[in-house]
Amino acid sequence: MKKRNIYISQPSMGQEEWEALKEPIFSGWVTQGPKVKEFEQLFAERHKVKYAFAVTSCTTGLHLALAALDIQAGDEVIIPAFTWVATANVVLYCGATPVFVDIDPKTFNIDPAKVKEKVSEKTKAIIPVHLFGLCADIDAIKEAAPGIAIVEDAACAAGAGYKGKPAGSLGDMASFSFHPRKSITTGEGGMVTTNDDALAEKLNMLRNHGASISEEQRHHGPKPYILPAFEVMGYNYRMTDLQGALGVVQFGKLDQFIEERDKWAAFYKKELADLEWLQVPEFSVDYSHGWQSFACLIHEDKAPHSRNKIMELLQERGISTRPGTHAVHMLDYYANNFGFKPEDFPGAQIANDCSIAIPLHNKMSEEDYKYVVDVLKNEIK
Ligand SMILES: *Cc1c(COP(=O)(O)O)cnc(C)c1O
Repeated sequence: MKKRNIYISQPSMGQEEWEALKEPIFSGWVTQGPKVKEFEQLFAERHKVKYAFAVTSCTTGLHLALAALDIQAGDEVIIPAFTWVATANVVLYCGATPVFVDIDPKTFNIDPAKVKEKVSEKTKAIIPVHLFGLCADIDAIKEAAPGIAIVEDAACAAGAGYKGKPAGSLGDMASFSFHPRKSITTGEGGMVTTNDDALAEKLNMLRNHGASISEEQRHHGPKPYILPAFEVMGYNYRMTDLQGALGVVQFGKLDQFIEERDKWAAFYKKELADLEWLQVPEFSVDYSHGWQSFACLIHEDKAPHSRNKIMELLQERGISTRPGTHAVHMLDYYANNFGFKPEDFPGAQIANDCSIAIPLHNKMSEEDYKYVVDVLKNEIK
């Protein structure tokens, strides 16, 4: 049997990242400081937003965004049923109720046609997820839920675009992830973006224990006896400057990483087009994909084996794969506490059971990509 060892994902970092860490280490400034600020400015510029705030993860960033909207018990937040569990958990952190909407298994994103029926007078926000780096159809969502605040879950969507606009600039706020499974990484880390001045001020305070800095301090420099005022309850969701230093270097590679992934995604799509049992990502010219992963759907009625069996056969040949992600309503905690049945959201159920992400990352060689294609075409039968 042929064998190579291809990971589902691998961070691309090396000497430059290593060197970048020296500055905060030798300066002694290791918590949120100049490196975080530099990373935020670069990120805001690239995603065409007025503000970007670095945080400890996409999850804490989403929590901050909901807190900035004052989401609380009694409120409802609309989210897709097929996403990483964090999208739902952050709604519960606020004491609010997640309201699930089914997804379209062709895009794996929330189905805008199904959003309208879930909007109620309690709906305070909607969190469209740009899953795997493909933006949700924000215009259709805005039409289905007019006036409802939009918080993009842009965890997978650094550098992605929709109708000529970058992810992160499409709603009221957005949260990105720098977990190692995403295209650029700071170990753990996230970034919240917004164009709204008032929300920006809240995000900035809430991520730093609720501390507001007085105008006097801002303009005349700190006096040792003045502590910031604490008018709201906040959190400590600050990114370290060690991560900020990594982020600056990784950010510099973002567009090159995506370009390379885009090239190999096109190769996969061309080479795998004949496999009628494998649905590869399809999207219109309105979208530019961020390629966090290359997620496909296995049509089990046409496939030689079940999704799980195919994953095993690939693993035996050294090719790591993963289910795209999970249907949150099918996870024990949500099924048990909310009484969901798998068939309540059939699109999400299919995606849960039949999606497969195949390796696509910046540590792969041409031989690796050709090997994956060869095995899928010639050894899965
Ligand atoms: C990765 C991911 C998250 C969580 O990001 P963290 O930075 O690990 O908190 C949330 N939503 C989606 C869709 C993700 O893929």
